[in-house]
Amino acid sequence: MSPFLCLGIESTADNLGIGIVSSEGIVLANEVKVHIPEEGGIHPREAARHHSENIGEVMNRALNKTKLGIDDIDIIAFSQGPGLGPCLRTGATAARAISSYLKKPLIGVNHCVGHIEIGRLTTGAKDPLTLYVSGGNSIVSGYESGKYRVFGETLDIAIGNCLDTFARAAGLEYPGGPAIEKLALKGSKLIPLPYVVKGMDMSFSGLLTAVYNEFKSGKYELADLCYSLQETGYSALGEVTERALAHTKKPELLLTGGVGANKRLRDIIKCIAEEQGAQPFYVPINFATDNGAMIAWTGILAYKEGITTPIEYSYVNPKWRLDEVNIPWRI
Ligand code: AMP
Ligand code: MG
Repeated sequence: MSPFLCLGIESTADNLGIGIVSSEGIVLANEVKVHIPEEGGIHPREAARHHSENIGEVMNRALNKTKLGIDDIDIIAFSQGPGLGPCLRTGATAARAISSYLKKPLIGVNHCVGHIEIGRLTTGAKDPLTLYVSGGNSIVSGYESGKYRVFGETLDIAIGNCLDTFARAAGLEYPGGPAIEKLALKGSKLIPLPYVVKGMDMSFSGLLTAVYNEFKSGKYELADLCYSLQETGYSALGEVTERALAHTKKPELLLTGGVGANKRLRDIIKCIAEEQGAQPFYVPINFATDNGAMIAWTGILAYKEGITTPIEYSYVNPKWRLDEVNIPWRI
């Protein structure tokens, strides 16, 4: 197969990303524009409107970076799910339009697979156990027999959503994760909060309610609440990750997703990896949050295996699970 270029469109939630990646795995462009709600959390239709209004500009930025024209693109990949329906549909509509206009193959990509594959590409990890923590997902997974198996996941909200929602309620700046991280450094009192691990799964909604109630009670310093929220939430993630690593005996441990930027969580991951004799890897931050390059690269891996998505099968799947996807390039 001669070298080719893939344009990847990411639009699962608040990030609109356009990436251009070569079939050898070189990221030529990775442009992102983030929708910041005026108040409250992400409103799916408002985020979708943001994406449709800005996709032309972000795509031009990406093409200008590479000095390429749209005609130089060989295949088009897009996030087909999981994610917010209206946001996914905006990206999918653009991808279908470009693909049919250029008469170039279309590839629907699973967003969670994208996070793992860009992690492997950018860190050099080959067969990692992965902790993927973001605004919408909290998943411990590893490759086994043709699929990325889910060993543990959140039963309700994602850890990033928990952090962002608490930060907003406590009047901290957006996004919440980094603001809580900064304030947590000034805290030291561990306030008892619900620590919920059920089997190999986690739950963060009770943690969010409890920390918010403690905040409203006025009994504690906000720094101590931030410190306790991080310690409790990240410990639960650490417990599940360590058990999965011990059981699978994977040689590598990969941390990815926006919450993976957190230093305290990175320390926990490093500790677990050392304890279990695995090598820790952290996805660089511009590839850790939602981005188009991860979709383009996963599209390339799929296309090399002969996978394409005919238009009639290109409808989005907001609930598409990571462990439903066949991964023939790992066999
Ligand atoms: P993503 O959904 O992968 O785009 O990542 C966005 C999420 O990452 C949001 O929930 C942010 O609050 C969170 N985040 C970003 N930086 C940090 C950080 N330093 N610590 C904790 N969470 C973070
Ligand atoms: Mg995001």
